[in-house]
Amino acid sequence: MIKANDPTLKSWIEVDANCDFPIQNLPFGIFKTQSSSPRMGIAIGDHVLDLAMLNKLDFLNNLHIDDSVFSNNYLNDFIALGKPTCSALRQRISDLLNLNNAELRDNKEAREKVLQYISNVQMLMPVRVGDYTDFYSSIDHATNVGTMFRDPTNALLPNWKHLPVGYHGRASSIIVSGTDFHRPKGQTKPADSELPVFGPCKLLDFELEVAFVIGKSTSLGQSVSTAEADDHIFGLALFNDWSARDIQTWEYVPLGPFLAKNFASTVSPWIVTLEALEPFRTAGYNQEPKVLPYLQYSGDKNIDINLEVSVQPENSIETVICHSNYKFMYWTMEQQLAHHTVNGCNINIGDMMASGTISGPTPNSFGSMLELSWKGTKPLKLNDGSERKFINDNDTVTIRGYCSNENIRIGFGQAKAKVLPAL
Ligand code: MN
Repeated sequence: MIKANDPTLKSWIEVDANCDFPIQNLPFGIFKTQSSSPRMGIAIGDHVLDLAMLNKLDFLNNLHIDDSVFSNNYLNDFIALGKPTCSALRQRISDLLNLNNAELRDNKEAREKVLQYISNVQMLMPVRVGDYTDFYSSIDHATNVGTMFRDPTNALLPNWKHLPVGYHGRASSIIVSGTDFHRPKGQTKPADSELPVFGPCKLLDFELEVAFVIGKSTSLGQSVSTAEADDHIFGLALFNDWSARDIQTWEYVPLGPFLAKNFASTVSPWIVTLEALEPFRTAGYNQEPKVLPYLQYSGDKNIDINLEVSVQPENSIETVICHSNYKFMYWTMEQQLAHHTVNGCNINIGDMMASGTISGPTPNSFGSMLELSWKGTKPLKLNDGSERKFINDNDTVTIRGYCSNENIRIGFGQAKAKVLPAL
């Protein structure tokens, strides 16, 4: 077992049982305050530990990491130091926060300099994303969409069980949780109209997804096997791949998603390391028909992450409308990465690869409004009495996620954004 994952560890910082960030998690992020520049931090309880300050105060000397890595706008330079260094830092922080370690615990002056309440800091984009890829790997989601738009008896297209379908998304409009955005405008073709019309999207949707962050680059021509894949994955975050369904319907033939998908994608600010998630690995689907050799893998590669989505209208209460789980993925991250690179496509540190909408088998586990309202035919009732087929202006959509077992809870925080009216 990884030492920092020991469920019996306790911190001298109080951590509520329902908190996402116990000492066994230690996710990485970038934050700033009114008086400080962007820097690396680790979440612990309701605090963020300032790694730049911690290094300046000589608590991290044994790791020999340059100050510039910690005082940085992004995690990329840190991730580039490699997994052994990332693990060593996580282990050092685990030791420093341990209940039985007096180094920082009993140094009031240092403690006050390195700990901030998360509520007092501004979380920033954790990584500089060079490229973003979105997959389509939940069998329930693909089946639902195929049933709605094509043929219920042949819901999955012939390729679906043979390769993890994906497309290249857009990195420039990935925004960190808390960043509001305007409803997109574009071309749609109403059913009763001969010609397309232009205007604000009418069928705005969220997509409940989890993204993984590339932790090790490859060069052009190189492929990553399913067995090597984990070595190239730094960690995971929650991801809302906002989608304009009416724009999508009209534009997507024959090349797939374009303006319906590239106006905004919301990511949670904390990257939970793959290492912290190892205790929550679980078996995946039995893949029939058998996949080609380069997609085969061994071991438990799915991860049991409880996921939920809520909608909160302006000045009103929140309603949780979906409970799903990352374990419902038919294709694993390792298979996605093996497929992505099998042709020699190179990957870079900080690239984001999103799962695709994660739906489960039951109607309350569907990961988009498209499915929850079944194309708008079954409006959802919110706690304030209002109804939704899709997302309205000034609605706030929040994705939350956590792993839990009898011992610990490893959470992700949230990916949250409000939809402002079209500009
Ligand atoms: Mn998507």
